[in-house]
Amino acid sequence: MKVGFVGLGIMGKPMAKNLLKAGHELTVFDIVAEAVGEVSAAGATAAASAADAAAGSEVVITMLPDGPEVEAALLGAAGVLEGAAPGTIVVDMSSISPIVAQRVGRACAAQGVQFLDAPVSGGEPKAIDGTLAIMVGGSQAVFEKVAPLFEVLGSSHTLTGPVGAGNVTKLANQIMVACNIAAMGEALVLATKAGLDPEVVFNAVKGGLAGSTVLNAKAPMAIAGNFKPGFRIRLHQKDLRNALLAAESMKVSLPLTSTVQQILMALMNEGRGDLDHSAIVTFIEDMASCQIKKAV
Ligand code: NAD
Repeated sequence: MKVGFVGLGIMGKPMAKNLLKAGHELTVFDIVAEAVGEVSAAGATAAASAADAAAGSEVVITMLPDGPEVEAALLGAAGVLEGAAPGTIVVDMSSISPIVAQRVGRACAAQGVQFLDAPVSGGEPKAIDGTLAIMVGGSQAVFEKVAPLFEVLGSSHTLTGPVGAGNVTKLANQIMVACNIAAMGEALVLATKAGLDPEVVFNAVKGGLAGSTVLNAKAPMAIAGNFKPGFRIRLHQKDLRNALLAAESMKVSLPLTSTVQQILMALMNEGRGDLDHSAIVTFIEDMASCQIKKAV
């Protein structure tokens, strides 16, 4: 397929390279020229703007930080909609507010452009391996047209409802991950303060009901005191903010999510926004004056 790709950061760069390797023709754009240079060196055509990346493309993929960047790159000056012909499919794979996704979807539809919101889970390692979990909102027919690209990028792609549903699913994912890390932090701080070895406690519980993918990935990081990202605190704070805004619009209370959101904001103010989200545990450690990190 002829694919325009906008947003070549931690996630977008390996995703674009995987599409190239699978034989798709890519025209790429990012506001950072070095990123465009790197993906062009791997075989893509460099575009001068998002509109330029969209011109002549059957599908345009965007992978940007949050809603404001997605609205600028799609709807702004020299944006995708200036270059896209009617019938083009735009797939936004960024994690953004479902409300913004729906607004962007309506703007695309007004120009005869089809739209899917398709955020991902898995982070940089799975972006590199092409094994992301892709959560999609939009119509079945458009979903099927884009499926060959999703097959390259991910190990699963699931249509969860109309436009916006992909991001609602992603927010649900982010709520479960954040609350899970916070609960793990409380549990391991309590055990450590009681004089137990956190690693022994982790090994004792991981095969039981409290075991989880989050626990297996994040407990070893907390025990090692290694908070190298990974998925940054500031991106998770953005996701929970979007979850709370969406929840407010639907009059849904999310008390646990709002507590963890406050913790994430405090950590950003402490200068920890670029640490891995497993560093949520450091907030609980500070309150107890007790580090989970094992003395070696
Ligand atoms: P990133 O900050 O590394 O990359 C974003 C890229 O977008 C940057 O290269 C930036 O220059 C570019 N950009 C910003 N505004 C632009 C514009 N107007 N036009 C063109 N390019 C523009 O972010 P990332 O880690 O790649 O994340 C992208 C999205 O994927 C986010 O929504 C994030 O929440 C989500 N996500 C990230 C991870 C992860 O582990 N990093 C995992 C799952 C989902």
